[in-house]
Amino acid sequence: MLIKGGSSLEIDWLLEIGGGLSWTSLQKLYLYPNSLVQLDLSLEKLETIWSRHILDQIPLQYLLGKCPWRDFELDVNSNVLIPRQESELMIEFALEIFNEKSQGLWVDLGTGSGALAIALARSLKAWEGHAVDCSKAALSLAQKNISKLAPDSKVTFHLGDWWDPLQSLFKSIDLVISNPPYIPTSTLKKLDPIVYQNEPNLALCGGDDGLDSCRKVISGAIKALSPKGLIIMEHHYDQSERVLQLMEGSGLRNVRFEEDLNGIRRFAIGFGS
Ligand code: GLN
Repeated sequence: MLIKGGSSLEIDWLLEIGGGLSWTSLQKLYLYPNSLVQLDLSLEKLETIWSRHILDQIPLQYLLGKCPWRDFELDVNSNVLIPRQESELMIEFALEIFNEKSQGLWVDLGTGSGALAIALARSLKAWEGHAVDCSKAALSLAQKNISKLAPDSKVTFHLGDWWDPLQSLFKSIDLVISNPPYIPTSTLKKLDPIVYQNEPNLALCGGDDGLDSCRKVISGAIKALSPKGLIIMEHHYDQSERVLQLMEGSGLRNVRFEEDLNGIRRFAIGFGS
């Protein structure tokens, strides 16, 4: 299949997620290429998916309709951003502060596929959660994902613009988590074409300086957070200083950055007052 292009890492990914091969079976195949393995999808089907990925430049996650993230597998489609591995760290930061036995109220602003909301619902079981998105299609996918992956959770989904649907919860929110669109308009076309030609502009583009949505999220946070509350937000690789300034300017306290897996300042954290 590699003759058509692409990388062996992606082939492994396709065999694992699409073909249902375990890591052990995959290693066996590398060591003994003639060994027999059982695939969930026919080889023909996997080859068709691979060709579409290479020739039409469509992400494998959209072609398979699946994306593994943390310890679960989400359904995804082109109405939502493909959840990135680096965003998983936001859950770790939250769980360093709030333990499993704690209680409170979290909100996920711009939930997309629901990845962050589902991870919070599975980890903070006694909490009440609220997930917001302005895309009806994204919200219905997030709801489908949560009913499969965290069926007993107490999560409400809201269609609307950032803080708009949550006004009644203001002052009682203990955790805000958000991965808003943050790519500046002029940078969008410089991303890998497979990203900007397939993933929703709505979930990627943050306006001229990339910070349009970040500003909305931050300015609402200071009004919405409870006294022990905090916000954890993802941003672009070069926005740390500006996002931290926005947080401090809004009145948030103990503002700090966190790095992603590549050592890049990718997240901002701030506490309510
Ligand atoms: N991390 C994504 C990318 O670099 C962008 C996600 C976002 O805008 N929130 O493609």
